[in-house]
Amino acid sequence: MSSRSESHNAGIRISFEFFPPKSEEAEQQLWNTVEELSDWDPEFVSVTYGAGGSTKAPTLSAVRKMIHETPLTTASHLTCVGATREDTHRVIDEFLATGVRRFVALRGDPPGGVGSAYQPHPGGYANAAELVGALRERGDFDISVSAYPEKHPESRDTAADIDMLKRKAENGADRALTQFFFDNDAFERYHDRVRAAGIKIPVVPGIMPIQNLTQLKRFAGACGASIPSWLDERFDDLDDNIEERAKVAADVAAEQIQDLVRRGIHEFHIYTMNRSPLVSAVLERLGLQRKVASQAGAAA
Ligand code: FAD
Repeated sequence: MSSRSESHNAGIRISFEFFPPKSEEAEQQLWNTVEELSDWDPEFVSVTYGAGGSTKAPTLSAVRKMIHETPLTTASHLTCVGATREDTHRVIDEFLATGVRRFVALRGDPPGGVGSAYQPHPGGYANAAELVGALRERGDFDISVSAYPEKHPESRDTAADIDMLKRKAENGADRALTQFFFDNDAFERYHDRVRAAGIKIPVVPGIMPIQNLTQLKRFAGACGASIPSWLDERFDDLDDNIEERAKVAADVAAEQIQDLVRRGIHEFHIYTMNRSPLVSAVLERLGLQRKVASQAGAAA
């Protein structure tokens, strides 16, 4: 799969992130989005998991359907916050029974929300590095972890973050997917420090096409992502101009990816927000080819 994607897509490899739906309408939207985005032939897709197991059933259900009813290589996110080791292993068993062999292993936010004090469960895994180690002991899974180019909000400093990433890599993580960011210089500085620390796993930028800048600003700080002022300028006066706003959003994400490609990065994890039009517009701007088109091209 990757060789075909690479040959048709100038070496750019993509993955998509979805979240589990909370209503029938959201469910319909998710599956329409999955169907439309499948044409872009992603390396894999992932489904988020509510910290503390709050979305276990819908995550399991979405992942099961993706694995058994679509051609997509599917990963499930998994958190360990607020759970004993036994609880976590029961959840892992459920995912394995569903056919999951890829995980995005996370600690999860504290139950009091981002910014509240984090207390590891006394009988649980204290952080994502311990969860990665536990998964690695269970089997030969593909394991992704998080990374924070602009620092995790709870971290004392970037060095502590990189230290944690190193522990996750040493415990068997295959790649890191980053929190979204818009400052490519910050990503490059972080990437250089990760490599200088001897961490060899790919660090895949998380790209957030901006569906709504006002909403994004509301939760960006809590995620440890800054919103540069040039974004305000790009979206200035576009609140009521949906068409132009979508065009600017696609331009911004495509320009960010193109700049990262120039800096030597070729894998991207795209936060879809369970919507396809903007994501497809970004990929079109990058000149990527849909699977159907590339297969027809290969046959010609
Ligand atoms: P870790 O990697 O264990 O730690 C993150 C950083 O926090 C470390 O670098 C470390 O320096 C610091 N840190 C950890 N513990 C402490 C401590 N006790 N004191 C001080 N500093 C500490 N959340 C969900 O609930 N569900 C999801 O599906 C989900 N998917 C995500 C996907 C991606 C790609 C990313 C980037 C984040 C995702 N998150 C998700 C958010 C994540 O759960 C939170 O950011 C959480 O606060 C940290 O989890 P982690 O796995 O990054 O933690």
